[in-house]
Amino acid sequence: AFDVLVVGGGPAGAAAAIYAARKGIRTGIAAERFGGQVLDTMAIENFISVPHTEGPKLAAHLEQHVKDYDVDVMNLQRAEKLIPAPTQGGLHEVRLANGASLRARTVILSTGARWRQMGVPGEDQYRNKGVAYCPHCDGPLFKGKRVAVIGGGNSGVEAAIDLAGIVAHVTLIEYDSDLRADAVLQRKLATLPNVQVITSALTTEVQGDGEKVSGLVYKDRNHGTAHEIALEGIFVQIGLVPNTEWLKDSVALSPRGEIEIDARGETSQRGIFAAGDATTVPYKQIVIAMGAGSTAALSAFDYLIRLPAE
Ligand code: FAD
Repeated sequence: AFDVLVVGGGPAGAAAAIYAARKGIRTGIAAERFGGQVLDTMAIENFISVPHTEGPKLAAHLEQHVKDYDVDVMNLQRAEKLIPAPTQGGLHEVRLANGASLRARTVILSTGARWRQMGVPGEDQYRNKGVAYCPHCDGPLFKGKRVAVIGGGNSGVEAAIDLAGIVAHVTLIEYDSDLRADAVLQRKLATLPNVQVITSALTTEVQGDGEKVSGLVYKDRNHGTAHEIALEGIFVQIGLVPNTEWLKDSVALSPRGEIEIDARGETSQRGIFAAGDATTVPYKQIVIAMGAGSTAALSAFDYLIRLPAE
């Protein structure tokens, strides 16, 4: 059995595995796709002390750093079920899709999240070429340009306010007849001169010139008419979904499906910790996920040294 079993191989999981292994304890990491969301990212310019890198490069470095230690790396393994230890200090069990079962004294859950996509033509083709999901990450790339934000909930309106300070013009597109963001955010948005809000609008296509985004098409839901907007960037803000469906019977999740953790990264189950985008941590970023992974591993170690000797 492992002392620490990490499930998920993104920045949070990699940091957790390295911190655990450096304590000289039996550490394993099982990941469906080592690297996580970083693999889908191009330019990364806010990984502090590294002014510029690219997703696949950072993902390769994450994996290499983990492999520098005595860690059992199980890539391409999807966890399907977590069975918490029946008794305090006992072994937790993680069942994999391939039928195997892993047992560990502590488990660190770091299965991340995924951005909900619009699912319209052009979205995949122009991902990272104008189609973006993270304003903190990619906002500065659109300095002085025209962008759209898709989604009028809190994250969409926050993104529009944020981007309005950087880009030339923001068009906020909402499917419903009203924005759903908090009133205070909507009031702030209304004061910004370079933001236009279009409601009752369904985005139907991302347009591009073969290289990058050149515009979008939306349908006016009241009149059924199609309209085009010329722009350089589209921020899709219709939800970040945590990869926690497999955990709903084993640890407490927030109403949005995020794993509830305390300041030490512990979940509702003793000896089970969590870190990164899959959790209730505010702000989903690489440096934040790495910090949280380290916290979870140190907390797991603290838990282990307090277990009675067998
Ligand atoms: P993830 O990176 O999501 O990793 C989750 C891991 O868990 C993966 O290995 C996955 O395969 C695995 N997994 C999921 N389910 C299971 C399962 N059931 N069993 C086993 N394994 C499982 N952040 C920045 O700081 N700067 C940026 O510039 C930036 N740009 C971004 C651009 C894009 C396009 C996207 C999508 C995100 C970007 N982010 C950026 C956000 C950043 O990538 C995330 O905050 C970060 O990757 C979260 O790390 P994580 O380890 O919590 O989760």
